[in-house]
Amino acid sequence: MNHAKAPDPTGPGDQQGGGEMYCQKCGTKTEGSVNFCAQCGIKFEQSQTTDPMPKMYTVQGVLTEYFQGTLGESKLREWVRQGKIPHTRIGRRIIFRKEALDIWFDEQEKASMKVH
Ligand SMILES: [Zn+2]
Repeated sequence: MNHAKAPDPTGPGDQQGGGEMYCQKCGTKTEGSVNFCAQCGIKFEQSQTTDPMPKMYTVQGVLTEYFQGTLGESKLREWVRQGKIPHTRIGRRIIFRKEALDIWFDEQEKASMKVH
């Protein structure tokens, strides 16, 4: 028997090369930025470093990133003053948490639908 030198998926090789990885289940080498194995279809758990930090915004950040320009700064500050939008004050800074905003936004939408 002639042992053909097949590439050994479990062999040594730098895993930090980026762009290629091996399936944990079947060992198939996968290249590119796919998130699942083409051979067995298992999903890769690449994101082991799921950031435990909740996403936070400053006033400017929430306006541009969260509301994407649909809300004016004066309106936002008015809501903050009136306590209509969840926020945290750290010193003179106003911080918004994405999680809280999502819940708040959800409630706004639900409330709007109750009015018939
Ligand atoms: Zn696989």
